[in-house]
Amino acid sequence: MAKRMGRNRFCYFTKSMQEDALKKMTLTNALRAALSEKQLSLHFQPIIDLQSGLICKAESLLRWHHPTLGTVPPSDFISLAESAGLINDIGTWVANQAIMYRLKWGQKTHDDFQISFNVSPIQFRYENIEFWNHWIKDVKSKNLHKVLILEITESLLLNAEPSVLAQFHRLRDAGIEVAIDDFGTGYSSLAYLNKLDIDFLKIDRAFIRNLENSDNDQVLTEAIVVMAHKLGLHVVAEGVETKEQAAYLSSINCRFVQGYLYSKPLPANEFEHLLDSQK
Ligand code: C2E
Ligand code: MG
Ligand code: MG
Ligand code: MG
Repeated sequence: MAKRMGRNRFCYFTKSMQEDALKKMTLTNALRAALSEKQLSLHFQPIIDLQSGLICKAESLLRWHHPTLGTVPPSDFISLAESAGLINDIGTWVANQAIMYRLKWGQKTHDDFQISFNVSPIQFRYENIEFWNHWIKDVKSKNLHKVLILEITESLLLNAEPSVLAQFHRLRDAGIEVAIDDFGTGYSSLAYLNKLDIDFLKIDRAFIRNLENSDNDQVLTEAIVVMAHKLGLHVVAEGVETKEQAAYLSSINCRFVQGYLYSKPLPANEFEHLLDSQK
């Protein structure tokens, strides 16, 4: 772009902008190879049922280990994958891995142990319809439709084109469970909660972080929990780091919690050990 505008325009780029652009390009090229080079993996973070104190679900979280760049966090590469047209391939891999791990761990846990995975809004677009049809068939044939949860953000439902909403309904009709991730941080229009059939709200860590010291966060968190329960939804609190936060969440009947207090996201084999030790 700058080059086409003439050499003099180069001054519009500061050194750090050039460095950023270069870094982005390098990362994007590396990411293109990541899937075939088997550099991606899923980690699993336990979700605890406060009623039993046991692990009842796990969230899959994508990890990228590059041989020279090291471990690249999802916050650095998910949006790149989206803008570079790589998110459908990556998302397909994630959704299939979720099936694989749920099958693998079926024996180790109770029947309703659920695995959730994160889905980008782009994956709901029309061009991906074939993939989901195939995925739903696979899930149904393995009888896993009640034990996999898609985590989507509010923006998917709020700005959605008809084809995106149609995809949402196809998954719901197949009995796949859906969680609204990072609830309370987007431009929430609560109207969609009424219109759309959802199973879980995941309260964003922003509300939990200062829960023990902030009256306002307590009020908001409790209001979300009460509202969700009245609408027939389950609630998961994200980012629980202290016993005080967990105790408060328990006192307001928030049943499901997830966070460093219990465990960081773990590589699959370590998560498997954790499941074994719970038996
Ligand atoms: P998310 O889905 O909201 O996941 C929760 C994030 O909070 C994870 O960060 C998790 O490691 C972190 N976390 C969990 N408990 C705690 C805690 O107690 N304290 C703190 N400080 N953090 C905690 P992570 O793994 O870095 O993922 C960041 C985001 O990247 C995810 O947010 C999700 O939006 C996205 N992401 C991860 N995997 C995938 C994927 O497979 N596909 C897509 N599309 N997005 C993904
Ligand atoms: Mg999530
Ligand atoms: Mg979240
Ligand atoms: Mg339901």
